[in-house]
Amino acid sequence: MNYYSTNNKNLSVSFREAVVKGIAGDGGLFMPSYIPKLSEKFFNEIDKLSLIEIAYEVSSRFIENEIPKNDLQTIVDRSISFDVPLVRLSDNLSILELFHGPTLAFKDFGARFMANTLGYFLQHENDHVTILVATSGDTGSAVANGFYKVDGINVVILYPSNKVSEIQEKQLTTLGENITALEIEGTFDDCQKLVKAAFVDQDLIKNKKLSSANSINIARLLPQSFYYFKSYASLKSLNKKVVFSVPSGNLGNLTAGLFAREMGLPAFHYIAAANANDVFPKYLTSSIFDPKPSVKTFSNAMDVGNPSNFARILSLYNNDYEKIKKTIYGASFSDTDTLEAIKNIHSKYGYTIDPHGAVGCLAFDEYSRKFKDENVAGVILETAHPAKFLDVVNLSVKDEIKIPARLEDSMKKEKRSILMRNDYKDFKEFLLHHK
Ligand SMILES: *Cc1c(COP(=O)(O)O)cnc(C)c1O
Repeated sequence: MNYYSTNNKNLSVSFREAVVKGIAGDGGLFMPSYIPKLSEKFFNEIDKLSLIEIAYEVSSRFIENEIPKNDLQTIVDRSISFDVPLVRLSDNLSILELFHGPTLAFKDFGARFMANTLGYFLQHENDHVTILVATSGDTGSAVANGFYKVDGINVVILYPSNKVSEIQEKQLTTLGENITALEIEGTFDDCQKLVKAAFVDQDLIKNKKLSSANSINIARLLPQSFYYFKSYASLKSLNKKVVFSVPSGNLGNLTAGLFAREMGLPAFHYIAAANANDVFPKYLTSSIFDPKPSVKTFSNAMDVGNPSNFARILSLYNNDYEKIKKTIYGASFSDTDTLEAIKNIHSKYGYTIDPHGAVGCLAFDEYSRKFKDENVAGVILETAHPAKFLDVVNLSVKDEIKIPARLEDSMKKEKRSILMRNDYKDFKEFLLHHK
């Protein structure tokens, strides 16, 4: 399988090159040259397959012979080492719990798969490789966790100062070893800009082997399609039209779902659920994509003003706006709505949902009221454990939320970060002197 750049369809690189580089030299995102179709047999038997089996089948189609069978199996086994329960709240509403990984958010899927794939490709390199990650909260810790103590790899995390929760910050800043946290005086978009600037800085890349671990790395995107297949398999016997509601920021999770559909998954519709950062839902109603600075909300992992995977969605659909609009429904909600939803879901179903999942529920609710289709089964992607956002959840739900042990451990440790201005010169200087 070859990969092109969203800025240049004629570019053609191997999977390895796409993964190691992260982003194309022209600043574009890598895309597979075609989306492989899975066989009818695969879909007929899908309800008998484990998540690992699905993951292997899907990923092998994008990687082909670039990673031998046994090695790919090892990567899959190591990365997808936790479950994705689908909790049925009612006949037409289910919650897909994507937070059973080590850092309690769905980013563990992409981050671990990418870390293991990159580790595999770089195992014989002499130079240290520096992985740059801009994070609005959850990516950083998932990536850092995936690479923790991996020989030959350093991870530099950039996060916006005062714009992540205390728990998120602890997860980002307490690992140590080969992981360094930069606390940037700016927004997530500023962090993302600094990273992007580094990748096109010829002077810097001559001196430093850089790779990216944002949702822009293709090895982070692909594994996020696995659980769409798995949840469809669990609902298959209902014979309903499956609609996925995806709490969205950079649109990586949604794009992976769209990949699954192009591979043959009979997904009826997708919902892009957003908070006040509503650039993508606005595009879906107006056809105008108008990036804006991000604003801070309770569902902070979705506080993105210029979603990077938009370029991939355009490529996937050949810039066909009508087709995109037909496949994806967009909706956005305020923090007040979010708190109300957390409360309602708790009192109606006894289920405690996190602020991101709550936005997903609100969007599915709006969708249901609008289309009134009894034959739809909604799957809400619950992207984080509620304990990660206790301050917000507790504004709505007074019950005690049990904090998982793996989270409590990092809360006890001391924060270690380097405070930095939002200034590319400072960032470059730091990178040049970082071992
Ligand atoms: C990253 C994240 C999102 C947004 O996912 P994208 O792929 O960036 O759209 C939603 N919820 C949580 C908890 C996240 O960490």
